[in-house]
Amino acid sequence: MPGQINYLRVSITDRCNLRCFYCTPWDGWEKLPAPEILRYEELLRLAGVAAGVGIRKVRVTGGEPLVRRGALEFIRGLQQVPGIEEVCLTTNGVRLAELAPDLLATGLRHLNLSLDTLRRDRYRELTGSDHFNDVMAGLERAAALGFKPIKINCVVLKDLNDDELLDFARLTRDHPFQVRFIEFMPTVDEALWRRHFLPMAEIRRRLAGLGPLDAVTAPATAGPARTFRVPGFRGELGFISSVSDHHCPTCNRLRLTAAGWLRPCLFAAPELDIKGPLRQGASDAALAQLFREAIRLKGCVSPAPTLASVWPPPSMVNIGG
Ligand code: SAM
Repeated sequence: MPGQINYLRVSITDRCNLRCFYCTPWDGWEKLPAPEILRYEELLRLAGVAAGVGIRKVRVTGGEPLVRRGALEFIRGLQQVPGIEEVCLTTNGVRLAELAPDLLATGLRHLNLSLDTLRRDRYRELTGSDHFNDVMAGLERAAALGFKPIKINCVVLKDLNDDELLDFARLTRDHPFQVRFIEFMPTVDEALWRRHFLPMAEIRRRLAGLGPLDAVTAPATAGPARTFRVPGFRGELGFISSVSDHHCPTCNRLRLTAAGWLRPCLFAAPELDIKGPLRQGASDAALAQLFREAIRLKGCVSPAPTLASVWPPPSMVNIGG
């Protein structure tokens, strides 16, 4: 059985200003018409209902959340929802340098930055855009302003960025960041996944040169990352083995898609329509029941995700990763 479900990831848009080759479907994706996307007041109400069934932490994600107009006001509002103790944002950082001061003013402190390379030319290849310098400026600005923790999420891709593992890890020597290595999950295309999947054991082996790692105890809402610190380094390293070390039993999260579907599991198909009842006037109690049902559905622990077991693969740009 899963542990306590206390974490909700809320995707506020399916739009993104990057085209990461492994996240965006090859042929693009059909953008949701604006009326299909949950409005901020609907999201805030659902956050309140979710708090009532035990959700304590909400992560705002996308698409790219910072491309949706009004995102900062929403983030401010989320922090005022009774029962929600922690609000975090996951961003690709493209607009971070520009928005960091206003984001800070909302009260937000927890930031996850998705970044798969520390090289500008490679960034262009992986994301289809030339925003590397913007992202690095955003990271620098956010750190200078005092966002904490700043977690840098790096999806490890064999033959594409796996020669940068030590460079990423060494960022934690001088900066108080948590650099998290994430196994590439089977999305978009099977051949692509097979070509670029690198298991966590191999990732850890390649980091052996760093020396011994001290385990760090994670808070109750932390999720599946295993966290360590290289003695003497300021930051931490996190390892998320979504594929090779199946983490259903420790998964503490639900997902709410921009289109208003409640998703118990990233890698299992059932989704509950919450937008329909919401817009048809459902009471808070009825909506809470949908959250409880989603939590109940998490109880069916599935085998480790493979492309075969999750076909059609989840589209991260729609679900929010
Ligand atoms: N735009 C925001 C960002 O970049 O953080 C939020 C949405 S993005 C879909 C969330 C995360 O999902 C990113 O860190 C991305 O790298 C990750 N992701 C997408 N596809 C993935 C895959 N196949 N395996 C592992 N992580 C993936």
